[in-house]
Amino acid sequence: MKVVLEHITKIFPGRGRGAKATVAANDLTFEIPDGELIALLGPSGCGKSTALNLISGLQKPTEGRIFFGSDDVTDLPPENRGVGLVFQNYALYPHLSVMDNIIFPLGNLRGKEKMSKEEMHKKAHEIAKLVQIDELMDRKPAELSGGQQQRVAIARALVKMPKVLLLDEPLSNLDARLRLQTREEIKRIQRETGITTVFVTHDQDEAMSISDRIIVMKEGTIQQIGGPQEVYDSPANLFVANFLGTPPINVFSGHVRAGELYIGENDVLKVKGAPDGEVFAAIRPEGFILDENGPFECALGRVEVMGRDISVVSTHHDSQNEVIRSIISAENRVDTSKKTVRFFLKPKKTFLFDKKTEARIDFEIA
Ligand code: ATP
Repeated sequence: MKVVLEHITKIFPGRGRGAKATVAANDLTFEIPDGELIALLGPSGCGKSTALNLISGLQKPTEGRIFFGSDDVTDLPPENRGVGLVFQNYALYPHLSVMDNIIFPLGNLRGKEKMSKEEMHKKAHEIAKLVQIDELMDRKPAELSGGQQQRVAIARALVKMPKVLLLDEPLSNLDARLRLQTREEIKRIQRETGITTVFVTHDQDEAMSISDRIIVMKEGTIQQIGGPQEVYDSPANLFVANFLGTPPINVFSGHVRAGELYIGENDVLKVKGAPDGEVFAAIRPEGFILDENGPFECALGRVEVMGRDISVVSTHHDSQNEVIRSIISAENRVDTSKKTVRFFLKPKKTFLFDKKTEARIDFEIA
């Protein structure tokens, strides 16, 4: 089922006299193609959950329309939208078995959709098999691991075969290993069912690894929509560049003059086509090439061995980050007796941003 948001705005009025209203969603317009898994990604408070709640119908927009396929669902309550919801706290019924938790939503079906007990059990078994908890049907939630509980919550959301599956930080309560495993599971389940899915997360790694497309949000507004690689390789603005990637991107104050990028006194890269002026230059950690003849000189801090790669930690007075992290192959030797380290920069891993608007400035790569 295709999901379309058209100019969706949600304003929460301030509480108390003089309190400011919050624009939690500001003119959101996007389309989720049928069968895609989309991540809503951004820092705490950027409006991800609000956007999800608007799609589910738990909240009403102040302005704008929402469509499922060609149907306008803006005024429909959640129970009539055909959505499955999974939250961070799985909210399972503690006194019910796994089976009874999963079939719970089926008990509410009325009219021609009403199911017999046998039909419900058959359906629950099918879904439990899909999420691989079919061996645990008689247990109570307290007798399950966090990951298993989350699978029950997903099974419960899927049992009515929703048109759209909405997941709000579903992995936050799991430890690091289970998070990895469960996110792979979610991707598999989503592929197998083909249900259009929206996944809310503040974890860029999670968003990058499982989604077909990422919507990056900040303060209620969309910053960029694109495939994971596209958003990483071509960030629309400095916020997106900073938000994606570990270790984070290295940001410097610099300036462009006659098609050359300068950081401090160093002429570090050809940036043909970029207009003269002050810029932020952002370089991915993998964008540095260690070379004693390189044009970019930084003060050498330390070298951290990471197995296959090494991380050279350095500083520069025009760096916006406390330290600069460059990741280079462990085959390189860094002369730690020296006070400085020199680099060439990879043009595809270096981005320029307008100092005022922080929008990306394109340049030609020679
Ligand atoms: P988090 O990752 O912390 O859950 P989020 O990106 O999901 O954050 P939202 O929960 O959508 O953010 O909140 C967006 C903004 O709207 C925040 O400033 C929040 O304080 C505000 N907000 C959310 N719900 C309400 C509400 N019911 N009443 C008033 N303000 C609200």
